[in-house]
Amino acid sequence: MSKMIKVSDLNFSYQNKKVVKNINFSINEGKSLAIIGPSGCGKSTLIYLLAGLLKPNQGTIKINGDIINNIRKKTGVILQNYGLFPWKTVFANVALGLKVRNYDKKKVDKIVVKALEKMGIDNLQNKYPAELSGGQNQRVAIARSLVLNPDLLLMDEPFSALDALTREEMQNLILKIHKENKLSYLIVTHNIDEAVFLGQEIAVMKDGEFIHMIDNPYFGDLKLREKEEFFELCKELRVMMSEDDLL
Ligand code: ADP
Repeated sequence: MSKMIKVSDLNFSYQNKKVVKNINFSINEGKSLAIIGPSGCGKSTLIYLLAGLLKPNQGTIKINGDIINNIRKKTGVILQNYGLFPWKTVFANVALGLKVRNYDKKKVDKIVVKALEKMGIDNLQNKYPAELSGGQNQRVAIARSLVLNPDLLLMDEPFSALDALTREEMQNLILKIHKENKLSYLIVTHNIDEAVFLGQEIAVMKDGEFIHMIDNPYFGDLKLREKEEFFELCKELRVMMSEDDLL
């Protein structure tokens, strides 16, 4: 299977503060990686680097063989705060990227309606973000990303503001989209359950470094949360993270 992302000796500092230190990893096409670590360990910075929004001080990021030093058309980015325009309707928010790319109106309408249906929010197309719940807004944000037909989704704590049940609903949705579209994704989280449910591989990050990389053999099972293996792996991860706190 071909490598989609290859990160080599990645380093990044804000002014004099080193935030990403010698990170190396690769992800095969159609796979997923969850990155877990405490607040401030450099997770968001890593996502911005992968998205091409920041440039490495050292090392390289390659996606499908191309070095990333700018934003990439086929990469979708989903952030915690949804990034929706409050003065635009749901429909207009989702249509935005297609309009920027000069698609004709008929085509835009068709693609947007299909994406809204897929996300189960076609009834909300004339509403404004302020009229929606957090989960609904996050669906809009995902729809806005998907209409651009990405081959890679980068998500930075996308569900952390949502209540537990809505968060699980959204996690299920991501797994479904991943399976249907063979979409690769990276998700940054500080939630152990989320990492185990959504990561085919799980990287534990601390102080800018990947200190563990785990294969998750149970990935992809929609009923995983009800199973013993799920709790076992969560426990393993929890121990791993707390042990390293003592070092
Ligand atoms: P995480 O996503 O894991 O919470 P971040 O990548 O947001 O971590 O931040 C890593 C470190 O870099 C933190 O100590 C944070 O304070 C610092 N940092 C983040 N953004 C900036 C910035 N724009 N300028 C200077 N320091 C920053």
